Amino acid sequence: MMTPTRREFIARAVRGAGGLSLAWLSSPGAAFSSASQSADDKAAYLRLPSSALAERAEALKARYKNCDLCPRDCRVDRTQGEKGKCQASDRVKISSAFPHFGEEAPLVGRGGSGTVFFSHCGLRCLYCQNSEISFEAHGEEISERRLAEIFLKLQDIGCHNINFVTPTHFLPSIVQAVAFARPQGLRLPLVYNTSGYERVEILALLDGIVDIYLPDFKYDSPGPAAKYSSEAYNYPHYARLALKEMHRQVGELALDGRGVARRGLIIRHLILPNRLAGTKGFLKFVAAELSKGTAINLMRQYRPEYRAKEFPEINRVLKTGEYTEALGWARELGLTRFDL
Ligand code: SF4
Repeated sequence: MMTPTRREFIARAVRGAGGLSLAWLSSPGAAFSSASQSADDKAAYLRLPSSALAERAEALKARYKNCDLCPRDCRVDRTQGEKGKCQASDRVKISSAFPHFGEEAPLVGRGGSGTVFFSHCGLRCLYCQNSEISFEAHGEEISERRLAEIFLKLQDIGCHNINFVTPTHFLPSIVQAVAFARPQGLRLPLVYNTSGYERVEILALLDGIVDIYLPDFKYDSPGPAAKYSSEAYNYPHYARLALKEMHRQVGELALDGRGVARRGLIIRHLILPNRLAGTKGFLKFVAAELSKGTAINLMRQYRPEYRAKEFPEINRVLKTGEYTEALGWARELGLTRFDL
């Protein structure tokens, strides 16, 4: 069965909440029972001294003044209202937060993945299926204290993790919210769900905080990256470095006794029509530079969204043969976890 897209899940969540995407957070609702957690299963940030978490938040917040949080390296002062490529201010903005049952099975379990969708995006792909959030920045500005409350609410209703979707441009506020939530009882693993357009220097500040990295790898060559993702010609370079750093920090995907993710790396790769994502090159990179046991979600659900119709070569869904050839390459290369 095809997994519903993010847009479909968001739409359902919004409809289910009477049009207010955050409204359900303050309603009593049906709660799931959370599974007990052993000391060995502790989320990474619970092993950090609390002073270290606060120091990381401060170090990241300083970046808002001369923003280099992502490879766009805009160097704008977001604290003074200047806007970079992502168009985000220094005040965190989210479009929705809810238990998501459409993510990869190890993230969903029985209680769902506690997703928080952040407004804006630094990569800005022209076929984005969430353009209302990424380009138009629909959503609600909230305080870091409120964001911490949302994390705790997602935990209370039984989610297995807190899943930050498109977090990079608000990372300082997110880590600050984790620092606020931890003394109030936050204990779930954190999922960093990103386009893959990241800087290693920034990821290093997440070492020991993030448990599960969930990056995309979108393109293996600069041409398509520049053409379809707002001149991000350097995407393949930065994404490869980012995947190596993530793999160094958390290693291969590790599950608990229920099959729920505790730690590790899961890479999403959306196969584009006409081999434009460079799938074979990506798989070769994983096999040679990461490990053959790296968990990969080879995604076949591409469909033309937003401005994709302006580009005939991506203005169609994927053919079955394009997906099966990707599976064949993965097998040939000895990869073992590519059907997540
Ligand atoms: S987070 Fe935004 S402002 Fe900062 S470097 Fe990236 S695109 Fe530019």
